Amino acid sequence: MISHLRLKAFGKINLALDVLGRKPDGYHEVRMIMQTVGLHDRIDLYRTAEPGIRLETNLFYLPSNEQNLAYRAAALLFDEFGIEEGLSIRLRKFIPVSAGMAGGSTDAASVLYGVNRMFGLGLTTSQLMERGVKLGADIPYCIMRGTALSEGIGEKLTRLPSMPQCQVLIAKPGISVSTKTVYEMLDARTLRPEDHPDIDGMVEAIRKRDLYEVAGRFGNVLELVTAGRYPVIGQIEELMKEHGAINAMMSGSGPTVFGLFSNPSSARKAYEALRYGEGIDLAKQVYLTNFYNMNQGAAGRLR
Ligand code: ATP
Repeated sequence: MISHLRLKAFGKINLALDVLGRKPDGYHEVRMIMQTVGLHDRIDLYRTAEPGIRLETNLFYLPSNEQNLAYRAAALLFDEFGIEEGLSIRLRKFIPVSAGMAGGSTDAASVLYGVNRMFGLGLTTSQLMERGVKLGADIPYCIMRGTALSEGIGEKLTRLPSMPQCQVLIAKPGISVSTKTVYEMLDARTLRPEDHPDIDGMVEAIRKRDLYEVAGRFGNVLELVTAGRYPVIGQIEELMKEHGAINAMMSGSGPTVFGLFSNPSSARKAYEALRYGEGIDLAKQVYLTNFYNMNQGAAGRLR
């Protein structure tokens, strides 16, 4: 019997993000290139004799009830399978919150995986994904991990070859951006054909495993909205490029910016510039990480 599970819930960045339109039900149809990064939250699951689900987090401003996606993920399986024992969830957040890195979704994905294992529910990965999408469009991808093309509302996933390894510098400015508002502002705009990133071209570049071509094809249609409103996003991108980033772009609906570096010492210098140097006022949270690939052996498995 499993009484304790320790899990890592990895964040994602978007190497490309296109929005095709808004569906009558309000969801947006997207085409996105998703990439898991090493930056992760830590989740401990403890089986308890006392029934019910409890959650504690290290961030006072995050909900610890059913408003928290990690809690909701556990509750979904507890209700469906009539689990009568209890579960205590300890969540330590490191992925920036409301940042375009799918932090809540990846926590939910890990809890679905963990509860399935801990209570021997016998669900397959695709059965976990079917349940995950009910809680959030990015959750199936967070269960899958790696490099993937995400279509539909985010639930149609195609695995892509792993990217060549490089340094990924992540910087979140001290502003909060509501995903809902960003999409509403996008709906109000008329997009020109050249505003849309070439997702098929990006897929080809990834299949060639050409890091420079991938970086050259970065594009995020939501950046028109978020970076237009917050110049700090462009300023962080510029700083990263001045310090040798192959390219830099906003992830998801923002405001997090990431830059790819093939030279570790340039990445370190850019990190230091944002942490302690001329960029100190641009970003509130800065992390140096790398791609999390599925070909990393045991480390690539969900755990
Ligand atoms: P996405 O990239 O999917 O748009 P995001 O990075 O913009 O996600 P999250 O950090 O996942 O945003 O969460 C944003 C909101 O969800 C916050 O308002 C937060 O209170 C709520 N939330 C609920 N559960 C969690 C969780 N486990 N971690 C982070 N935020 C959570």
